[in-house]
Amino acid sequence: MFFREISASLYAWDLADEGIERILDNVQEMTNCNSVYLIALMHHEKRPLTDFFYPHNPVRKTYCPEDSRAYWHPDLSFYDKTPIKPRTSERDLLKDTDWLATCIEAVRKRGLKTGVEISHTIIDKERAAGEFEHCMQHNIYGDRISQLICFNNPDSREYAVSLFAEMAGRYDLDYIQTCLIPFSAGRSVRGSSLPAARLLGTVLGGCFCEHCARAAAAKGLDYEKIKQDLLVLADSVSNPTLEQAHELALLCASNTSQTAILMENPSLYEWLNFRRDSLTDFFKEVHTRSHAAKADIDIRLNAYISADAELSGIDLRALKPHLDSIRSSDYSEQSGDPARLEFKRKWLLSVRRAVGDDMYFLSAIGVRPKATPELIRQGVVVSAECGADGLTMGHYDGASYSNLRAIKEGMEIADVEMA
Ligand SMILES: [Zn+2]
Repeated sequence: MFFREISASLYAWDLADEGIERILDNVQEMTNCNSVYLIALMHHEKRPLTDFFYPHNPVRKTYCPEDSRAYWHPDLSFYDKTPIKPRTSERDLLKDTDWLATCIEAVRKRGLKTGVEISHTIIDKERAAGEFEHCMQHNIYGDRISQLICFNNPDSREYAVSLFAEMAGRYDLDYIQTCLIPFSAGRSVRGSSLPAARLLGTVLGGCFCEHCARAAAAKGLDYEKIKQDLLVLADSVSNPTLEQAHELALLCASNTSQTAILMENPSLYEWLNFRRDSLTDFFKEVHTRSHAAKADIDIRLNAYISADAELSGIDLRALKPHLDSIRSSDYSEQSGDPARLEFKRKWLLSVRRAVGDDMYFLSAIGVRPKATPELIRQGVVVSAECGADGLTMGHYDGASYSNLRAIKEGMEIADVEMA
């Protein structure tokens, strides 16, 4: 058996602190890594994520990034059809360097693959609450949903697609990985883990903005009726009468199926399909514009929701024609629980089932605490058994060297070589 790729993700501040050459030495020597990408538009998240302190950063113990900043120097001509432009770092440490160019140059010198990731949120909270409030998803009551863009809003959609077009058009990249948060899936009814309760709570998600109404009408849907029906459902979940609260309590104590909820609520099913179609259309545009800029660019979906992704509008089978590869983002190893690797196996197989054996598919390995070398070796074996074309590590900055070395060790146990 062969792996064709082992990828490592880096941040601009990793490059500033550790230096790209030292990082590349480490990942090549310890993990067989042959592919390195910069997370070039990063959401608001303390690093390292799953531990208090960095294991091998020589300069600092932690780093708290600015929210949703671009770590390259954008060419604004790519964004002339949208009022939204990438917001760059304002910190002295980072602002004067094009970190994407720095990363690509060093990685190419070693003859490795290189890529870029556009992460969860692409507009910072400040602008999402201010000048671009109207570009965000809104719930059925008209309230803005955090900093999640609406995929039917022409300004936010054009901005998002332009990010891909700029990456493909300007930089010497093999792949552009997207980890954008899709439609908000609301929240589960009464915090229940019952799939039917999770499904019902989707009505509190998004999006119900005017652009979604227009897009639905263009697809021939009776959006007003759908919205009226879902409003009744949303009220019953968010502000239930005593009778409705009783019914919800019964639901959560029962084994009512998701199918039953869909059959009771045909408008909910129509709305879920509409969001799926909206997101699929968005990826079609991303794929078309990126490939127009660079014919052999690889548009890679980071499939980071491993349960109920459909409630966010993700339908892998529908997306398949508009993707070139998929990165499973399951980091079960870092749960510290060996039993969790069976969940990983099922998730990897569910992706394979949806997209077929021919889709280029990388399996993530959580290399951060509480992952151990033993769990990482097992994760590599499970990935090989599930037909992965390669591995992708999450993430170098938080990984101890012993955890990184376990990637190679797992490959030996699984009898996998680099192609
Ligand atoms: Zn919308």
